[in-house]
Amino acid sequence: MPYPELAERLAAVRAAIDGAIARGGHQQRVAVVAVTKTHGPDAVRAAWAAGLHDVGENRVQEALQKMAEVDVPLRWHLIGHLQRNKVKQLDGFALVHSMDSARLADALHEEGVRRQRPIDVLLQVNVSGETSKGGYGPDDVRAEAERLTTLPGVVVRGVMTMAPFDAEERVLRATFAGAREARTALLEAGHPAAELSMGMSGDYEVGVEEGATMVRLGTLLFGARG
Ligand SMILES: *Cc1c(COP(=O)(O)O)cnc(C)c1O
Repeated sequence: MPYPELAERLAAVRAAIDGAIARGGHQQRVAVVAVTKTHGPDAVRAAWAAGLHDVGENRVQEALQKMAEVDVPLRWHLIGHLQRNKVKQLDGFALVHSMDSARLADALHEEGVRRQRPIDVLLQVNVSGETSKGGYGPDDVRAEAERLTTLPGVVVRGVMTMAPFDAEERVLRATFAGAREARTALLEAGHPAAELSMGMSGDYEVGVEEGATMVRLGTLLFGARG
């Protein structure tokens, strides 16, 4: 049985999440997205067996391969940057976390119209302004929230963000609070933007304290990536 420690690790994560919800006071429900990138289909099967029904991948091609190999009704999340020429390959994904530009939003909308089923997306916001990270600038979110109401091919379910790696707590909190504000702007524009996807293995407890409804965990569940 691969990943023998998964159940135990997941139990610890769920307990930590419960503690973070209580400390943060947002009273939200939190979904754990098991990030299986670089791991084989065994990791996906182990996630399913452990009761994790949401799986995250950051490359379309790698995800499609695993979808073909693993025959359980998981929800697949695309969490990595998406090239516009790949929007036609999204049928198997439940949610795209990484709508990171107006041009990509347009392409996703066109595909959603073409396939006659809108694409569920999160708007990725780059709160910290790191040039290595994609996403909308926080100052652009309000105008884009208005514009997105004219694109029926996408359904904006919320916001995703990534905090700077190994940042101190103050920076993490400011980043996550910025994402929460972006979600408020989407809600005020009328989008069904309930979700806040924020927090990875190193910072998910702070993410949950700041209101995350989804955390994306790889290393903590499956061990270091090769
Ligand atoms: C890889 C990845 C994760 C998971 O990272 P860990 O630190 O291994 O938990 C989460 N979100 C995104 C966007 C990723 O690319």
